[in-house]
Amino acid sequence: MDIREIISRASKEGIRHYGDSATLKFYDFLKERKFMTTKCRDCSNIDFPPRNFCTNCFSENIEWIEIPKRGRVYAFTNQKRALRFVYPDIIGFVEIEGVGRILTKLEGEDIKIGDEVEWDFQEVDGLTLHIFRKVKS
Ligand SMILES: [Zn+2]
Repeated sequence: MDIREIISRASKEGIRHYGDSATLKFYDFLKERKFMTTKCRDCSNIDFPPRNFCTNCFSENIEWIEIPKRGRVYAFTNQKRALRFVYPDIIGFVEIEGVGRILTKLEGEDIKIGDEVEWDFQEVDGLTLHIFRKVKS
């Protein structure tokens, strides 16, 4: 089995075995090309990654909301040896107002901290994942 196959299997098995119901629902939404997370109906706290309960007040009274389209690059790293994705393999945090920082794959030429990016989707090994692309100015 080659390394790409191992990584692909680990991703799928990981989601199936270790993901709670909120994680599974998150990936189902991605498959439908919806980028969603959870918001508390009691205190309005938004969690990312999504949870079955609020990490602020521990209420289970949550709802699903769409993540705002645009954010700004908070930090990133460009991996020189790309295994899972085609080079350049850029992983970073995108800060979205009201949501917080989202760990994600980034795509774009000459990415810099503070750049405006917006989410999109990418199919990888049968999974739909989120990716942020630089907004063309
Ligand atoms: Zn809450």
